[in-house]
Amino acid sequence: MTRLRTPSFPLLLLALLLYLLPVIARREDEESKYQKRDFHTLSNEDIRTLVESEPPQWNSVDEGHLGKLLIPRACEFTLVQNYISSVFTKLGWHEEKTPFRGATPIGDINFTNLIYTFDPSAPRKIILAAHFDSKWFPDFPANQFIGATDSAAPVAMILDLAEFLTPLLEKRKERIRSGQGILKKDFDEEEVAETTIQIVLFDGEEAFKDWTSTDSIYGARHLAELWQSTYLPSSHPLNKRRLSPPPSVLNTIDHLVLLDLLGNKHSMIYSYFRETDWLHSKMKFADERLQHEGLVEVEKNEKEWFGDMRMRGGIGDDHLPFLHRGVSIFHVISNPFPKVWHTLADDASALSLPALRRWNRILRVFSCEYLGLEPSTANAKRTNDELVRIYLFS
Ligand SMILES: [Zn+2]
Repeated sequence: MTRLRTPSFPLLLLALLLYLLPVIARREDEESKYQKRDFHTLSNEDIRTLVESEPPQWNSVDEGHLGKLLIPRACEFTLVQNYISSVFTKLGWHEEKTPFRGATPIGDINFTNLIYTFDPSAPRKIILAAHFDSKWFPDFPANQFIGATDSAAPVAMILDLAEFLTPLLEKRKERIRSGQGILKKDFDEEEVAETTIQIVLFDGEEAFKDWTSTDSIYGARHLAELWQSTYLPSSHPLNKRRLSPPPSVLNTIDHLVLLDLLGNKHSMIYSYFRETDWLHSKMKFADERLQHEGLVEVEKNEKEWFGDMRMRGGIGDDHLPFLHRGVSIFHVISNPFPKVWHTLADDASALSLPALRRWNRILRVFSCEYLGLEPSTANAKRTNDELVRIYLFS
């Protein structure tokens, strides 16, 4: 990703001052207006259960999925693709690959986006996305660039989250299938039941030379174009609304949440889009509750991760081709970028275990609340005391 070009500093400062004050004041008022779906706030007890649920948290930064991803992942390298594929196959998610050949400054390259959907028949979805490629450098030692924050860690967080969510999603699916119906009062469970989660892992995010509109985000540009021209079948519920132009796959995306440059100690996450300010607030609230309950470790000298103001301008990244086609975006990216950005130092040593765990837990709370899922004690690790209680009172 890249920072978009900005005007000279004095001009920028003036624009910033004129712009920021009203924005800060406006944010709270507009949240409800743009929130078009119910959000199921979990109790502190639920949050505790969810934190203790399987899969367990990593004990070191190179354990688990992350350990498999902390290698150079430059284009046409299929080892990581095969690993990701094996994780989702095991979980039973629907897999779609979109291989294509793209023209780059170093010649034609084969790219493949990886797309995983829990329930491909669901009419709506939230997309959680990151890029799995690492930046290509022609010469040693730069060609050993790993990109731990960019974006091995975000991809690993997504894999861990998918493992965590799968049993909860299956449980709800089974309950609805068996006719047990809606459980929660004052909550639109039908809405969440028709919303699935889709994981999109983009290839070719990085530029081969300098970041330009044609040398960057190869996978995202291809996929946004492909989905725009893929129309929905006549049986799809969106077709009943007689939209013009006819609805395409892009219309089934409620929100696209893009993770990038995460996993190091310092994160600063801003909202960039008015219509998803409310999602930013929900993620911030998840982090606040986890901190309040002592369920995340906040490192010494660590500042808050979620900024209150909305930033204008944005950052060039995989969301752009979707944003330009009207998709609602929540861009979760550290700004300023990690100090190690695009250097060889962006390896395992750039990552922080407490930060990775904190992200993991934030994403669990956020996803469960968005999808209306309640953490189940069935997949929570039980302590001895709990087991004694279960046996004594059942
Ligand atoms: Zn990068």
